[in-house]
Formats: sequence, C-alpha cells, structure tokens
Amino acid sequence: MADALVNALAEVCGASNVVTGEDARAYNHDFLNAFHGNARAVVMPANENEVSQSARLCYEARAPIVPHGGNTSYAGGATPDKSGGAIVMAMKRMRKVLEVDARNMTMSVEAGCVLEDARAAAAAKGLLFPLSLGAKGSCHIGGNLATNAGGLNVLRYGNARDLCLSLRAVLADGNIAGELKGLRKDNTGYDLKHLFIGSEGTLGIITAAVFKLFAPPAAFGCAFVEVESPSAAMDFLQHCREEAGGSLEAFELMPQILFELLAEHQPQARNPFGGRIPKYAVLFEFAARSVEEAEEKTANVLESALEKRLITDAVPAQNETMRAQFWHAREVTPEATKRAGQWIKMDVSLPLSRLAAFVGRMETALPNIGAGKYIVAFGHLGDGNLHLSAMPDDDSAAETIRGEVYETVREFGGSFSAEHGIGQSKPALLARYKDAGSVATMRAVKHALDARNIMNPGKVVLMESGGQ
Ligand code: FAD
Repeated sequence: MADALVNALAEVCGASNVVTGEDARAYNHDFLNAFHGNARAVVMPANENEVSQSARLCYEARAPIVPHGGNTSYAGGATPDKSGGAIVMAMKRMRKVLEVDARNMTMSVEAGCVLEDARAAAAAKGLLFPLSLGAKGSCHIGGNLATNAGGLNVLRYGNARDLCLSLRAVLADGNIAGELKGLRKDNTGYDLKHLFIGSEGTLGIITAAVFKLFAPPAAFGCAFVEVESPSAAMDFLQHCREEAGGSLEAFELMPQILFELLAEHQPQARNPFGGRIPKYAVLFEFAARSVEEAEEKTANVLESALEKRLITDAVPAQNETMRAQFWHAREVTPEATKRAGQWIKMDVSLPLSRLAAFVGRMETALPNIGAGKYIVAFGHLGDGNLHLSAMPDDDSAAETIRGEVYETVREFGGSFSAEHGIGQSKPALLARYKDAGSVATMRAVKHALDARNIMNPGKVVLMESGGQ
C-alpha cells in the first residue's frame, strides 16, 4: 500500500535513501539486541536542508522521528518503538568535517561524522580533539552530543558538553536553530546548545557542531598499578593529582573479575601484570612536554606511591606499543563482559569523597541479593563514573539488585545515570530519582519545542499527551 509520507520523504532525500521493511531491519534494534522496534521507514538525509524538509513532512503527518547516529548507546534511545509509526532519521550520510580552523583551534563537523574521523581530521592539522571512547570507530558526533558522551579523558578535557562551542539543530517542525561559531565567549541570551546536548534526540536533530581543539601532548606517562582496595585507588588518585597536577588525563579502575574475563574471553589482550590477576588495578595517564619528562614524572609518581604504600605493584608503559596494549586491554573489557553472558548494566556516578564507601557497600550487598557475578569497582574513577554490572540469579533478583543499587546511589548523593543516557530504559527512574521540579521543567521545555511530541517520543521524559 502506498505510504504518502514515505513517498514524500523519498522525493526530498532520493528514493534510494529511504528504506522500509527488510531494508530497515538493522535500524530496528540496538547494537546489543536488547531493544527492538519497528520503523515505518528509515530516511538518510544528505544535508541540513534535507533534514529540515524531512522533519517538516513528519511534523505535518504527526509521525515520530527517531534520530539515529552510530547506534552504540546502551539505553535504546536510537531504537524506534514497536508501533511501526516512527521514521528513523539516520545521520550517516552527513559525515563531513566542514573545517579545521587551526589558528582558532576549533573544528566544525557534521553530525553524522564518526568520532574517529573527527579526531583524525584534527590530528592531520597537528591538533587534538580529545573526546575518546571505546566506540569511537562507530559512534557519531551527533550521538556524542545527544548523549553528552564522556569517555577516557573527561578528567582533563571534560564531556562532549565542555568541548562544544556551538551547534545547529533542526526542530520538530523543520525550523533550524543555531549558528556554527567558534567563539569561546558569546553571551547572547540563553545558550540553547546546552538544551540539545544530552537531550537524546527528544528536542531536535543536531546537524553540525563546532568543537574546541587542543595542542596535543608531546608525550604521555602511562602505567598500570595494583592497589589493595578502591579506597587505596582514591588515595592514589589524590597522589597523582598532587604530582601531575592538571596534566592527569585518565584514571581508570579495573577489578580482579575484569582481568579474569579478559583472560577467558579476550586472551589476546595483554595482561600488564605478566598473567598474574591483580585485586584491583588502575590504568592512569598524564600528558608531558617530552618523552624524557614523561619517563621522569612516571618514575617519580610510581616510586613515591610505592614508598607511601599507596600501590602494591607498578608496570609503566615503556614505549608507545606498550601504552597502546594497555589501552587496548581497557577498551576490550566491554566485549569480554558481553561474551561472558547477560548482565544488568548500570552506569552510576558518585562524589569522589564517597565513592570508595559506596563500592564497599555494594560489594557486601550484591552477593546476598542474588548477584551470581558482579562488577562494581570499574570505570572512569577520576570523574566518579562507575560501570556497575551484575549477573542476577533470576528475574526477581534483577529487580532487587537494581533497587538496591539505585537506592544506595541516592543515599550517597550520586546519579543513577552518568553515561548511558535515559533513552527508553530509564524514564521511570528519571521520574523517581530526579527532583520533581527538574522533571516538570524538562516537560515544559519539551512541550515548548515539540508540542506534538514527535521528537523521539517515549524516551527520556515521558509526556502525558502527544499529537501522534
Ligand atoms: P546512537 O546510539 O545512535 O544514539 C544515541 C542517542 O542520541 C539516541 O537517543 C539518538 O536518538 C540520539 N541521537 C543520535 N544522533 C543524533 C543527532 N544527530 N541529533 C539528535 N539526537 C541524536 N559513552 C560514554 O559517554 N563514555 C564512554 O566511555 C563510552 N564508552 C563506550 C564504549 C563502547 C565499547 C560502547 C559500545 C559504547 C560506549 N559508550 C560510551 C556509549 C556510546 O558510545 C555513547 O553514548 C555515544 O555517544 C553514542 O553515540 P552514537 O552515535 O552511537 O548514538
């Protein structure tokens, strides 16, 4: 049967760039196959004008739009619902780096650009775009902004939000907001970019953005160390801050179970401790002005930490190959855990001052409430972000574990969602754990920008009525 909206979209974007049925199948689930839906069609615009015209058509037809980047997120935000009514807007054809302005140290990039390509374009001009995460070969700039992605270098450079100077977005009705300006200071009323960053496609479609670039460090000091406990890891973090100051770039905590899973499921990943499984390990890195400075500083940091008994073992990366192997081991941990079976995955954050106590509480609680296996002390420790996963004995244990984790996070003044976003997996948690005033304000903003509730409905903040 003819579908007038799909035909109209095909006129705007070209027939080969609008697909339905079997051809749309890859867009009906997330990369983990945890969320499933049914798209009415997938539209792949080539430029902002096509995004705008497509959005207007959807607006007039009251058809939901689901923006779709690299599909690497964990909360089902880019997956349509099962109704068969939503248009998935895949941004992959808008992949250009528009400009690298070396003197201004900024870069303008289209939303469908793969993060790794954006990083390479900056590097080609001798500059650093520091956003870096395990999914960098697939995730898009637009998806990074829509989820306010963090990654490995938040400690020094901040999240996607901190790196973005401006963006352009197409609104639900097809209108366009924003200018691509590389300004570090621009106080001209409300800074609307912050509304779209972290909005997970519920307020509009980000089409392009301008980012800050940095001078790349000449060298890195990098090492794996073993620590006795998460509390010792926090003491070591403080030590590194005192020794390396603002040059500390990354500080990742990995518990024993991750090394066991790596040995079993990713045996090619290098165990820095020569095959021995550490109790807890930290992978840290700081920037230096020369290889000599990096070596000297690393040696100083490690020697003084050993002297103070903050760490029990240390393996510095002696060259770039070794450093790459260390990071490879860190980056393949999600794949190793995935191969080990079905986990419930939570991404929480805690104030650094309370993080070790939180980990202790969880490590005591989880085995007693049906978590056969669990990973607590894993993640971007430097910014308080933990990847907490558990393998529940059964469905009822899964619910108990989630409840225990989120209630404890609330008690410790943390956040139930630090990284993966809210998507379709956590709107109920948002309603429960976010303060009522913020949720009401989010609804008001959503209504003001998208009164018909067609931008990624059912994700993040649930609206009572929509125009569908
Ligand atoms: P998608 O998954 O396609 O979409 C995510 C959300 O953004 C959806 O709601 C979608 O509708 C919306 N969206 C996508 N594009 C646009 C657009 N142009 N305009 C408006 N909305 C849009 N995340 C971190 O923060 N830190 C990490 O360290 C990290 N490590 C990871 C490691 C691995 C191995 C994997 C698989 C994932 C990791 N992630 C991490 C999660 C994920 O990579 C990020 O959330 C990423 O930013 C998602 O980008 P994407 O292009 O894949 O977005």
